[in-house]
Amino acid sequence: MSTAIVTGGAKGIGRAIVKEIAKKGINVVINYNTSKEQAEKLQKELADNGYKAEIYKADVSKREQAKALIEFAQKQFGNIDILVNNAGIDQFKLFTDITDEDWNNILQTNLTSVFYTTQEAVKNMIKNKKGCIINISSIWGITGASCEVAYSVSKAGIDGLTKSLAKELGPSNIRVNSIAPGAILTDMNKNLTNEEIQEVNSQIPMERFGTPEEIAKCVNWLIEDTYTTGQIISPNGGWVI
Ligand code: NAP
Repeated sequence: MSTAIVTGGAKGIGRAIVKEIAKKGINVVINYNTSKEQAEKLQKELADNGYKAEIYKADVSKREQAKALIEFAQKQFGNIDILVNNAGIDQFKLFTDITDEDWNNILQTNLTSVFYTTQEAVKNMIKNKKGCIINISSIWGITGASCEVAYSVSKAGIDGLTKSLAKELGPSNIRVNSIAPGAILTDMNKNLTNEEIQEVNSQIPMERFGTPEEIAKCVNWLIEDTYTTGQIISPNGGWVI
């Protein structure tokens, strides 16, 4: 039986990833920070269907909490085979309005958290010579986004981490990949008006937003695969080719 940790797993893309992984019979630790009720609801839903999931509150932008999350997973299930670094926040601001606090918060939450959780988890993976790390970045890390400079930098940083770490950990049979979604309908986009959604749709060859489940399918594929590493895979409906 394998074990997976999904950060920010209680809602949105993370929730769909948790469900997809649990369906495979893999034990899952659902990390949440503020969405306790949603984490509990998801855990119950999975348990009702015969799947095993634990929930754990941790602000992964803090080293001690990220470390405690990994330790919890090991205590519950033994080894860690899969780590999905999904937790993230966005902010829409002119570059000239970004404060030091904004910048540090976004970088710490989106990028440094990946450093923390991954560094703690790979100790176990290296020992076992087995592991699969999937980082959720974004198309904005590839192309850059106006008024989302800090976010884009954090996601480009994740992709840099993915490529470098894939080279370092390949000999330990640990694969590291990024999934860089396009526009996905979740709370992260809840402030878009219908008009803005139509405008985005008009720029996408597939003419629509993606769903969290479509990102989860990509995660499933990366778990099943045995040779792909260091890649940035972008399910984006053809928005960026
Ligand atoms: P969402 O519904 O807003 O979910 C964000 C998740 O991140 C929540 O589960 C939240 O946990 C978690 N999180 C935030 N800060 C955290 C922290 N300090 N510690 C632990 N967890 C934290 O948005 P989403 O669209 O599903 O986003 C998931 C990932 O996909 C993010 O990395 C995002 O950048 C990326 N992405 C999204 C899109 C899109 O169009 N939606 C596109 C490209 C990439 P709590 O609710 O428990 O606090």
